[in-house]
Amino acid sequence: MNPLTNWVSKSKREEQKTMYVVSIDRDKCDGCGACADACPAGILGMLDDGKADITGEAEECMGCETCVATCPNEAYTVTEM
Ligand code: SF4
Ligand code: SF4
Repeated sequence: MNPLTNWVSKSKREEQKTMYVVSIDRDKCDGCGACADACPAGILGMLDDGKADITGEAEECMGCETCVATCPNEAYTVTEM
């Protein structure tokens, strides 16, 4: 493949990549741990205070909303950028 064409198509793909921003309202967390077990990107974890937080690379969020569906206290929101 022509290397220039390859470079152009790769950068186009990167431009079109959708970003997701996950946020947590830690005041709502009761420490059940379900989100940390369920996140397929492995970016949610439990901190020493017994509550969940984003402990991995937040930009790895794939927007699946498993955390939103899993949390019994509606602590998570996921926004598409
Ligand atoms: S939306 Fe999916 S990938 Fe992103 S933090 Fe929630 S469970 Fe993890
Ligand atoms: S699922 Fe909700 S309540 Fe349970 S640890 Fe995660 S944020 Fe906290």
